[in-house]
This record gives sequence, structure tokens and C-alpha cells, in this order.
Amino acid sequence: MDSKRKLKSLHIEKQLALKLWKSALKFRKRAYAPYSKFLVGAAAMSSKGIIGGCNVENVNFCGSICAEQNLMTRTVFEKALPIKIICVVTKMKNDPKGAANPCGFCLQVLSEFCSPELVIWTGNLKGLVKRQTLKDLLPGTFKRGAF
Ligand SMILES: [Zn+2]
Repeated sequence: MDSKRKLKSLHIEKQLALKLWKSALKFRKRAYAPYSKFLVGAAAMSSKGIIGGCNVENVNFCGSICAEQNLMTRTVFEKALPIKIICVVTKMKNDPKGAANPCGFCLQVLSEFCSPELVIWTGNLKGLVKRQTLKDLLPGTFKRGAF
């Protein structure tokens, strides 16, 4: 791809990321996080349009589910794969200008259904913060065929 086409492609991706950020911000409001108060919203562009998830906590912390896992289970249920781009919105108490990355468990769940090229945008309440790919965040994925 020549540099002009690459720039145009990145511009289009950024527009989509902004759309997903707005959706993730909305989905974040649906989070059930009475224990941590750490609300997370996630949105992806799926084959059936924007699909989202939020974190849902449980008094037994092992029963809690992250927004990204919620997003992926919904995507599978809706038969809306593949997804190539997601946005995750958080508000970090100690770093208001930053945004949290998905946890390791979520990265593994994402790797089950998405390519290593999956674009993962993180954002906070003010906007997009960082663009990374699944392989940036989880270079040593536990893959099929390992057992
Ligand atoms: Zn997680």
C-alpha cells in the first residue's frame, strides 16, 4: 500500500474508532460494578454493526466478567464475527489522561476469535488514548494445537 493510501486508510480507521469510542462510552454506563466502581465499556465493529459489552461484577469476584469478555460472548451469540477493531473505555483513578489496557484474561479470550492484527483502541471519558493490536499486547498467545 502506498503512503497516501495508507494515510487515508488510517484516517478511515480513526473515524471508526471515534464512533466506537462514543458507543463504548455509552455501554460503560450499563456496567454493574458496585464493588470496584471501575466501570468499563467496550464496543466493536462486527459483521452486524456495532456490538458492545460492559463489565458485570459479582460478590464472588470469580463470577465477574470483563467488558471485553461480555463483548466477545455477545458477538459469538449474535453470530457477528469477525471483528477487526474494538474500543475499550475506562476511567483510571490514578491516571486521568490514560486508559486501561484489557487484562490478560480478556486478551486470551479475544485471541480465540480474532486475528493478531485486531486493532484495540483504548480510551477514557475525554477521547481515544492509544492504538495497539492484539499481537502488541499479547505477543505470546496460547494457541490452538498446543495440546
Ligand atoms: Zn479483562
